[in-house]
Amino acid sequence: MIALTVDIRKKVYPNGCCAIDSLAFAAQPGEFVAIVGPSGSGKTTLLNLVAGLDRELDGSITLHSRQAGQPSPGIGFMFQEPRLMPWLCVQENLELVLRPQARAHPVTPLQDLLALVGLPGCGALFPGQLSGGMQRRVALLRAFIVEPDLLLMDEPFQSLDAPTANQIRILLQDLWQRTRPTVLFVTHSLREALSLADRVLFLSVQPSRVILDIPVDSPHPRSIDDLSVQKLHASLLDQYPQLLAGQIAPSWEKPRIVHPGIR
Ligand code: ADP
Repeated sequence: MIALTVDIRKKVYPNGCCAIDSLAFAAQPGEFVAIVGPSGSGKTTLLNLVAGLDRELDGSITLHSRQAGQPSPGIGFMFQEPRLMPWLCVQENLELVLRPQARAHPVTPLQDLLALVGLPGCGALFPGQLSGGMQRRVALLRAFIVEPDLLLMDEPFQSLDAPTANQIRILLQDLWQRTRPTVLFVTHSLREALSLADRVLFLSVQPSRVILDIPVDSPHPRSIDDLSVQKLHASLLDQYPQLLAGQIAPSWEKPRIVHPGIR
């Protein structure tokens, strides 16, 4: 398990667009952190910087292993679309990300893992034969079978219908509780963030910074329909009506911590 420290003084794109200005937070090992912000608030920019896909920044991003001398941490990324290879069957798509040793001698056979994510006997099917929800289950399993230390998720369920997204959110919590990677989950849905995360960070409008940092204490797994989620959702929007537009009145000079006390 790894901790993550983000301290970005500025992220300016070559065209002069300042996407991030003074954005800082730390995630504890195994913590599930959701990042919520309006469109254009720098969520994807932040994930790309943390993933190391973009290294142009003024500031630092540090991953700390618990024990010194550990191999460099593994980072997984789950995108908005499942991005399965259409010419490979499900089993081959999964094997593609495994190291040769794990492919030859898996700790848990892939058939068992497919059954675990609700896809028993689907290993020989091709992505084109799967529904959007089934493809997302494969993509989720692919993200977890490499046992990442840090898993970055960029609105991975946004194009799914509500009941399917709900089922897959429960599956995500199950997989996360088994292996406990540190997770950064980007979403513009407050309910989704409150149902999944241990902690939710809210971003301002561009240039982005953290305007609010709240813990979510109720036990996992949660559904977006849970009373605790609904109550916290209502109380946050009552307290900060412009929160999802990236603003908290009257001042957002410093991140604020609130403890809504819902368990
Ligand atoms: P979000 O994911 O929250 O919608 P983004 O991180 O995609 O926001 O974008 C944040 C800001 O950075 C936006 O103003 C966007 O136009 C700008 N931006 C994103 N990528 C680039 C790029 N490659 N070049 C210039 N500006 C960019």
